[in-house]
Amino acid sequence: MTEHYDLLVIGGGSGGLATARRAAQHGARTAVVEFDCLGGTCVNRGCVPKKVMWYAASLAHGLGDAAEYGFDIDVRSHDWSALVEKRATYIERLNGIYASNLDKDGVTHIRGRARFVDRRTVEVNGSRYDADRIVIAVGGEPVVPDIPGADLGITSDGFFELTECPRRVAVIGAGYIAVELAGMLRALGAETHLVLRRDAALRSFDADLGSALMETLAEDGIEIHKRMPPKSIEREGDGLRLQGDDASIAGLDEVIWAVGRRPRTANLGLEHTGVELADNGTIPVDDWQDTNIDGIHALGDVCGRFELTPVAIAAGRKLADRLYGGQPEARLEYENIPTVVFTHPPIGTVGMTEAEAGEAHGEENLRIYRTRFTPMYHALTAHKTPAVMKLVCVGAEERVVGCHIFGHGADEMMQGFAVAVRMGATKADFDATVAIHPTSSEELVTLK
Ligand code: FAD
Ligand code: NDP
Repeated sequence: MTEHYDLLVIGGGSGGLATARRAAQHGARTAVVEFDCLGGTCVNRGCVPKKVMWYAASLAHGLGDAAEYGFDIDVRSHDWSALVEKRATYIERLNGIYASNLDKDGVTHIRGRARFVDRRTVEVNGSRYDADRIVIAVGGEPVVPDIPGADLGITSDGFFELTECPRRVAVIGAGYIAVELAGMLRALGAETHLVLRRDAALRSFDADLGSALMETLAEDGIEIHKRMPPKSIEREGDGLRLQGDDASIAGLDEVIWAVGRRPRTANLGLEHTGVELADNGTIPVDDWQDTNIDGIHALGDVCGRFELTPVAIAAGRKLADRLYGGQPEARLEYENIPTVVFTHPPIGTVGMTEAEAGEAHGEENLRIYRTRFTPMYHALTAHKTPAVMKLVCVGAEERVVGCHIFGHGADEMMQGFAVAVRMGATKADFDATVAIHPTSSEELVTLK
């Protein structure tokens, strides 16, 4: 017999759980299908374990500076495996909290892998479930390029399975994951190589942020290999050799692929639904998270747009509010989404880059305010990292359409500035705000 629900959500990650819980809170009979641990990428092999490692790396940086603040300490070693064990315990606790939250809201958890058999029905472990509406929130997985020996490398998933710090590691890629992992590995003691196929990392970010980051990564001892598209990985003795066109890196314990992610749409049975896929396998949706098939919705990483946890959550909650909460206009606005890259120091950004604003509004209509300084924390330390801040303003009223920060505290600063940018703040509003002293963020309200 086929069990019926108002709403069936495929994927118990950030987006799926948020959609299901909100729909159930509005009274819909809801089930989530998940074959793996609840919480999805973010909780199990993304944001959460990453942030734990980032905190550890931050401590390593702090310990490096401690003597200059008067501490007499001798750091003998770092126990990576003890950290990983504690991290796993924390994540298990989160998995349990996610399960009990589903219970509390009356959402059924169907354990297994869902596959569509028609537009309203999915099969899980031989049982069939149908629903008036189905939400696809299956997320993505890391890409491994098709080159000889690629499987000798690991991905971010494998990084989180490492039980000890690699002695010598190459991270291939130029996006969020590559720079975050490279930074953490270096801080925790690995000889780290960052392998770029072009000249720079984070090329989709404002250029000032990318160049400050490149400088800092190199200062921190990360060896950056520009214009080295990977051609093969070979086993050589006890280690691995990563081969580029005319250069190679030998003696590596690990090679980590961080070259992007692809949606998990391959074995979903979508051919039985008529849901259209883009060439890269993502599911195109309109402003309302609707696919081309009535009653089938998609959100989160599977749509390939702003692959961030809070985006998946917000899209899911808005969708549930629209479908079951009597809010026909509810939808996520995809403009001015703030984001942080957890490097050391971190990057925080919201709105348009200078280049994007120039294209959208005309360069002649832009006014750029920028500053670069050494944060006060480094007044006493030999090792210094810069702070770079930039406001991209448009028109005679100088509306702030982009706010970009590289520097200590950027991760925590950005949320508040994102509110201001979203509300349409002008440079004059920034200037009229009294500074908080002594902080780095005060520079943003005193820019000349
Ligand atoms: P997911 O969280 O991936 O959830 C999808 C779920 O669907 C998975 O649990 C999967 O097992 C399940 N599933 C797939 N197919 C099926 C099927 N057929 N049947 C049943 N279940 C299925 N974002 C941030 O905002 N901040 C960060 O700091 C951050 N750090 C990250 C670090 C790393 C290393 C990575 C990889 C990602 C990071 N992200 C971060 C991105 C964030 O994790 C994703 O944007 C977010 O998890 C997307 O949520 P989702 O619900 O779309 O997909
Ligand atoms: P990204 O898409 O951010 O970056 C991957 C980059 O790798 C590409 O842009 C490309 O840069 C480079 N690349 C692609 N193919 C190759 C190749 N064959 N060889 C060498 N380099 C290559 O992907 P990530 O995997 O880093 O992250 C996926 C998404 O997850 C992110 O976009 C982000 O949305 C999310 N995420 C968010 C985090 C956060 O919020 N802090 C942290 C981690 C992930 P180029 O073209 O310049 O060579």
